[in-house]
Amino acid sequence: MGEEILNFLKEKLDKQYGKEITSEIIEGYQIKRKVTLRVNTLKSNVKDIEKELIKAEIKYEKVPWNKEAFIIKNVREKEIQNLVSYKKGCIYLQSLSSMLPPIVLKPEEGTDILDMAAAPGGKTTQIAALVNNKASITACEMNKIRAERLKYNIEKQGVTCVYIMTTDARNIDDFFSFDKILLDAPCSGSGTLDINNPKIEEVFTPKLIQKSIESQTALLKKAITLLKQGKEMVYSTCSILQEENEEIINKILSYGNIEIVPIEIEGMEHLPMLPSKIKGTLCVKPNELYEGFFIAKIRKIK
Ligand code: SAM
Repeated sequence: MGEEILNFLKEKLDKQYGKEITSEIIEGYQIKRKVTLRVNTLKSNVKDIEKELIKAEIKYEKVPWNKEAFIIKNVREKEIQNLVSYKKGCIYLQSLSSMLPPIVLKPEEGTDILDMAAAPGGKTTQIAALVNNKASITACEMNKIRAERLKYNIEKQGVTCVYIMTTDARNIDDFFSFDKILLDAPCSGSGTLDINNPKIEEVFTPKLIQKSIESQTALLKKAITLLKQGKEMVYSTCSILQEENEEIINKILSYGNIEIVPIEIEGMEHLPMLPSKIKGTLCVKPNELYEGFFIAKIRKIK
């Protein structure tokens, strides 16, 4: 079951990365990823969370590029959800890869920030914590049910600087403009596939890739329109297919009003990387710690 779609995916990856890297990716898909979490600095701090984990005999490791991230070594999500700090919104279960875009975005206090595809809000709340609730964040989400989840997470984590817009981000009025934008775009999810899922052909389809490409292109165009001149945005997906990443960026680069800002974060040499077709962008390889992810930083120049 799912053989046909797996062959389709392998063929695509082979063409893009070659046989050796493709087999590493396939291996990465098969490993059960470790549970990871982020400390919500709006409600707690790293020291207190470490104390609680030690008391609960939960073993952890730290992450070189993010001091607020923990890799959990001996328990799964359920045990973390039983912790008082989880119930109080002091920690948030979040994949390591998905903590990267807000860090790359480098949000600043006192600025106007747009999170264009925001639910369930892992990155919105991370951005709010990075600016210590002292920015004006617009979080856009077109799916009403998912927007409810976003609202829940924002409230639980003590975020007070977010305005939720339940609308299609492609329809945001061009009258608005922002200092920073995160476009964590809807995608095929090819970086996070569970290839042992017997129903994989229901969650990953050629049609979904095509639909994603259309939304990604339209949303990125809109993001560039809404971004103030000279300011920066981040485009990210949890896909490792070039057609959803480099090809989208290249299409928009050809219009001539944006440039790539090379990504530089401390400790990024520890990330498992895939080759990217655009220098300065980041493509993370799926493994036991990371989901496959693509991140590009873009500046509007005209
Ligand atoms: N950034 C989120 C986080 O870190 O929790 C994950 C975002 S998920 C990859 C993409 C989200 O975009 C989905 O919730 C989807 O419903 C929403 N979406 C898709 N197309 C959209 C559009 N045109 N306008 C606004 N939201 C959209």
